[in-house]
Amino acid sequence: MEKVKVAVNGYGTIGKRVADAIRLQPDMELIGVAKTSPNYEAIIAYRKGINIYTLKDSIEKFEKVGIKVAGTIEDMVKEADVIVDATPNGVGATYKPLYQSFSKNAIFQGGEKADVGDVSFSALCNYDEAKGKKYIRVVSCNTTGMLRVICTLNKVSKVEKVRATIVRRAADPKEVKRGPINSIVPDPATVPSHHAKDVLTVIKGIDIITMAVIAPTTLMHLHTMVLTFKDKVTKDTIVDALLNTPRIVLVNSSRTSVASTAEIIEVSRDLGRNRYDIPEVVVFEDSIYTNGNEAFLMYGVHQESIVVPENIDAIRASLQLMEKEESIKITNETLGIMKGYLI
Ligand code: NAD
Repeated sequence: MEKVKVAVNGYGTIGKRVADAIRLQPDMELIGVAKTSPNYEAIIAYRKGINIYTLKDSIEKFEKVGIKVAGTIEDMVKEADVIVDATPNGVGATYKPLYQSFSKNAIFQGGEKADVGDVSFSALCNYDEAKGKKYIRVVSCNTTGMLRVICTLNKVSKVEKVRATIVRRAADPKEVKRGPINSIVPDPATVPSHHAKDVLTVIKGIDIITMAVIAPTTLMHLHTMVLTFKDKVTKDTIVDALLNTPRIVLVNSSRTSVASTAEIIEVSRDLGRNRYDIPEVVVFEDSIYTNGNEAFLMYGVHQESIVVPENIDAIRASLQLMEKEESIKITNETLGIMKGYLI
């Protein structure tokens, strides 16, 4: 099989995980990653044998710390078939003209405005709509979590209304300048939060309102969600649908004592998962409650890794490498992504 050449521009929290995931795909080759600063992430990537590209003016900085640069970001873009852009919020859009000038496909992240892409993407919801699109935006971590749950439960009965509260982690663990905070901050103070609007970029027309707060934690986000369905639903059918969907796992607090985001992360550490990543949405089974046409639930979202499988599927959709089910299956198998109970 001829492999597609993938480059990753921006090698931070998301970029380094996507780069590692690309290296595990049978149909992809990582040709290199681009960074602007030669920090510990760049040094480790270089030691792993990954080609490092940077801005022309930054080459000297990299060589000072012993990194022999493979070329400029422009060189990298020229050589790639597709670029995953994982640069900071808003920076991705400034690179779009470069990708366009070489007529290269690109996958952007959720920190960019929706119009950077021809389509916003969540593999379980709209893979087919993204097929052949040159510019795809993978939605943010919180939106990815919500979409996986909504699109999965929409198969039980049509979802007519969603109300959700997003309890956001204040910062990623490495972000020493952003957190932790000693406060719970409405984010934004006005309702609805932008997350509902972001969901609507993928599933059009659904009645959804979200609120968000920032909490003093770095490990995971936690969502509380209430869905109203067309028909009456039972806890069993909701549990069944969630248990049978890869990229969603359940934890049963009464059986396993896993009853918090901290314990989910500890389980991931104990399972020996790389970087303690959990790309699956983690639903607290005991939180699932039904009342006529309504279902209530709470779940955790590991912000650092949840969008990684979506980026891999977005590459395949963009280049039309394979159909949805096959792409999702290969991504899940290569990344060890589960369904069912986490433990
Ligand atoms: P990050 O700050 O960890 O990484 C960004 C990387 O881009 C860094 O390696 C930085 O050196 C590099 N960079 C900065 N300016 C650059 C430039 N001009 N050219 C090339 N590289 C440059 O950021 P992140 O958390 O990985 O976020 C990247 C994107 O992913 C954002 O759109 C963000 O909204 C989105 N996202 C982040 C998370 C999360 O929780 N961290 C979750 C989902 C989506």
